[in-house]
Amino acid sequence: MKFEAIAVENIPLIHAGDNLPSIICENIELQDRDIVIAASTVVAKAEGEIFRLEDITPGKISLEIAARAGKDARFIEAVLSRSREVLVEKPFMLVTTLSGHTCVNAGIDESNIENGFLLYPPESPDASASRLGQELEKLSGKKLSVIVTDTNGRAFKIGQTGIAIGIYKIKPVKRWIGEKDLFGKDLEITEEAIADELAGAANLLMGEGADGIPVVVIRGLDYYCDKETYIKEMYRPEEQDIIKKGLRCLQK
Ligand code: GDP
Ligand code: MN
Ligand code: MN
Ligand code: MN
Repeated sequence: MKFEAIAVENIPLIHAGDNLPSIICENIELQDRDIVIAASTVVAKAEGEIFRLEDITPGKISLEIAARAGKDARFIEAVLSRSREVLVEKPFMLVTTLSGHTCVNAGIDESNIENGFLLYPPESPDASASRLGQELEKLSGKKLSVIVTDTNGRAFKIGQTGIAIGIYKIKPVKRWIGEKDLFGKDLEITEEAIADELAGAANLLMGEGADGIPVVVIRGLDYYCDKETYIKEMYRPEEQDIIKKGLRCLQK
């Protein structure tokens, strides 16, 4: 058993309005059931999610949080503009974004973008993954899955990893419930976070710095799913999320 992870080479610096699907297809011959994994950074750049820090005017709440946390109020304003809930203010902003993803700084990034600019993540990562997937399928004539990734930290462990924030035609979670273990016992709880595992594998080739590898193709694994799929299938239902409940208690 084996699978391949292929770095797509020769992708230029991406700017607002660039046609990412054709740039990808110019640099790799896609095959049926390939999983195309794209860093949110380049998806967002192509979508024009680039803002000048000096153009942002912080409101009252941003000024208050900035004073409490010792941060730039304009950056806080940017984070709040993409957040539906703040779970932690200090020492970092942990928020749930408008699209329902919980992460630090709403995924707003100052790395791999020119000085003085902020890169916001795609506003609707599933919609971005769908557009990318449909366009790639048109150009290549192949059946494809897409994952849009970002780098996130995890609770409890040091070190960030690539994770999925938007998906197209891939079931993000594999349910093992009802399957047997080696000794014939029923598995009762395990669900495998396939989309995050694939994102983590792709991130090994992307890196976080100047590598210039924003797209990786995973070939030889079959997670293709011929219908609309949504990243929210991976979000823990609110009523079961005891970590979020705990964080809300701490804020009070
Ligand atoms: P994120 O995880 O989505 O925040 O993306 P990163 O900022 O970690 O970048 C992931 C990979 O994409 C790294 O190899 C970067 O060097 C690369 N990258 C970022 N922007 C560009 C770009 O515009 N063009 C190219 N070719 N690579 C880029
Ligand atoms: Mn980055
Ligand atoms: Mn990022
Ligand atoms: Mn990254």
